[in-house]
Amino acid sequence: MPNPKRKHTRSRRDLRRSSNSKLTAAHTVACANCGAPRLPHNVCAKCGFYGGKLVAKVKVKKAKNDESK
Ligand SMILES: [Zn+2]
Repeated sequence: MPNPKRKHTRSRRDLRRSSNSKLTAAHTVACANCGAPRLPHNVCAKCGFYGGKLVAKVKVKKAKNDESK
C-alpha cells in the first residue's frame, strides 16, 4: 500500500483546511423605503416595507434602563 513518506506539518494541514471554508457575505440590496441593506425578495427588517408597501410591523427594541417614563 502506498503511504505518505513524511508527516505533513500542522501549518500545511491547517492551510489546506482553511482554504476550503471561506465565508462569504450575504448578498444584500438597498431598501427602497429606508435605504437599509436587506436580503432580496424579503421584507425589510428595519421598516417592514416590501414592494413599496408597509406589510409588517417592526418591533422597536426598548432600552433596558428606560428612565423617560
Ligand atoms: Zn427599509
